[in-house]
Amino acid sequence: MSGLICRGSDSRGEAAGDAVSRLQRYFDEGARFHGMLSPGLVLGIFMVDLAQEILGPREFVDAVVETKACLPDAVQLMTSCSYGNGWMRVKDWGKLALTLYDKRSLEGVRVCLDLARTRNYPLIEQWAMRLRDIGCKEEVAREIMRAGRDILSWRKVEVARYRRPKNAPVVPCSSCGEAHPSSDGSLCQRCNGREDYYRPAGVAAIQSSI
Ligand SMILES: [Zn+2]
Repeated sequence: MSGLICRGSDSRGEAAGDAVSRLQRYFDEGARFHGMLSPGLVLGIFMVDLAQEILGPREFVDAVVETKACLPDAVQLMTSCSYGNGWMRVKDWGKLALTLYDKRSLEGVRVCLDLARTRNYPLIEQWAMRLRDIGCKEEVAREIMRAGRDILSWRKVEVARYRRPKNAPVVPCSSCGEAHPSSDGSLCQRCNGREDYYRPAGVAAIQSSI
């Protein structure tokens, strides 16, 4: 693997403002898709754009995102990789970084926020380091648009081959009767008492609302 880490300076010689114009449709669509134009989404759009440019056109591209927050939506917006189709894996590492890679050759490009470079953009540094509670996230998003690739680093990487776990056979849960993977045992994840994100609404509460 190459040890070379490259700054995200623009290989097209494109001004930051021009990059914003070029990517504007993603900012617009992203705001709708994500619910708001968050700093992480704006950052993710610049990251995916840079990774795509360095990787070049490939027939099959997969993605790995190193945080659950915001960045995955940029990948879903700009590539054919989504959480649902399994072409994007999401690591809960809490890191502002992502990798796009060729599914066949496993050659990839990992892009991350370059912390040293954010020192030129104090607002972005404060946001990324959670140094204080940022009241106006729009202001941070605008600052990231101003910075563009100037706050990114990238390197070529070789991604480990990922083999999706085979689906276990499905059996009815011995308590609720719903289908669930047999690898969890005779009880489903909810009935085994370890996971409980809901409880049935009370009969009394339903009756009183009639
Ligand atoms: Zn059950």
